Amino acid sequence: MQQQIVTVLGATGSIGTNTLDVIERHPERYQVYALSAATQIEKLIAACEKHRPKHAVVLDEVSAEQLSRGLRLRGLETQVSFGSQALIEISTAPEVTTVMAAIVGAAGMSATLAAAKASKRVLLANKETLVLAGQLFMDAASHSASVLLPIDSEHNAIFQALPAAYRENPYQSSLAEVGIERILLTASGGPFRTRELATFADITVAEAVKHPNWSMGRKISVDSASMMNKGLEVIEARWLFNALADQIQVVVHPQSVIHSMVQYRDGSVLAQLGSPDMRTPIAYGLAYPERIDAGVQPLDLFAVGRLDFSPPDTTRFPCLGLAFSALKQGGAAPAVLNAANEIAVEAFLNERIKFIEIPQVIDAALSQLATLPSMSIEQLLEADAQSRVFATQFIQSKLSSC
Ligand code: NAD
Ligand code: MG
Repeated sequence: MQQQIVTVLGATGSIGTNTLDVIERHPERYQVYALSAATQIEKLIAACEKHRPKHAVVLDEVSAEQLSRGLRLRGLETQVSFGSQALIEISTAPEVTTVMAAIVGAAGMSATLAAAKASKRVLLANKETLVLAGQLFMDAASHSASVLLPIDSEHNAIFQALPAAYRENPYQSSLAEVGIERILLTASGGPFRTRELATFADITVAEAVKHPNWSMGRKISVDSASMMNKGLEVIEARWLFNALADQIQVVVHPQSVIHSMVQYRDGSVLAQLGSPDMRTPIAYGLAYPERIDAGVQPLDLFAVGRLDFSPPDTTRFPCLGLAFSALKQGGAAPAVLNAANEIAVEAFLNERIKFIEIPQVIDAALSQLATLPSMSIEQLLEADAQSRVFATQFIQSKLSSC
């Protein structure tokens, strides 16, 4: 068995921490080459102390100085750098075999794309990369020898339930050609699935970040509460599995035990089940096509007892409808949707706008900017930037008119 040399982008986050937990269980299989974080320096130092990476990358110069001091005090020789070019370097270094892409938001795109172009095994948690530049990313991955493994639990489940030849090369054929009718993308429905709609205007940050089944970073937790997370995942599935929008059906399943399903022409439905613990898809991605211990509790179906299903409610959760329409519109629309959502979620987390105003910001950005040019990465990044400016100004004008 050849040891994998791993870079973890976003090492201090929820996915990054879980990744290091799985790696630590298998020192004979994995060696950490580099870790990155934005500004959580103490957490990064602790991870460097445990995993002894060659490199650590942070967001800016101030954080880099703080990190260097902390590492020196502990006698660690990890080399420190900062900024987006440094993220690309640790994702493409010749000795690196595997990159965990677990930065949150569009900030993760450049390094993830660079890793795919450099033929690395890419463990893709950063769904925003596919929303922003799905086509270009999949083209880059299929033109290189990169192995792309979805880490998002739903997409990991779908990957496991697809025919092996198809999942590794989805653009050589189509879902219909391999006998697949639909992808059934499960959704927990988030913390507000049954909340009285009339009280949505009072939703607090603490309520929105408290997911019933999963423990995750703050941005994705708010996305789950608004169901934008499912919308982003529909777009992610479109690109990962070469699916048409109407081949993806969202199924609300509050227990989060079935992580998604694939429905075949002959009536078969293949599902992947498990405890809601991200270490399962992470271990799957790290070891593929083998299976390793992930430290996850075995699923106890008797304790689960029952599994429920219902259709999603887009009146209650307009973000899901916005994502579907951005996907159908194509071009720059998904990039605009994603960027406006990032700005709106940040404003909600900072208590500048209400939860119910998140879709209003996104809707306004889409109606202004969805038709921007989108043929190249540069144009998509420009659409992303314009959407951020627009959403920021929209929020500002809303605030000054209250
Ligand atoms: P998180 O907020 O817990 O962690 C994010 C990581 O990215 C941190 O290490 C942070 O330091 C780093 N980071 C943040 N902004 C950055 C920037 N501008 N530049 C460089 N680094 C930056 O987030 P998370 O929950 O671990 O999610 C990470 C990604 O994985 C997201 O795209 C999310 O949608 C996806 N994902 C997460 C889960 C989950 O269970 N947490 C499940 C599926 C998919
Ligand atoms: Mg998910």
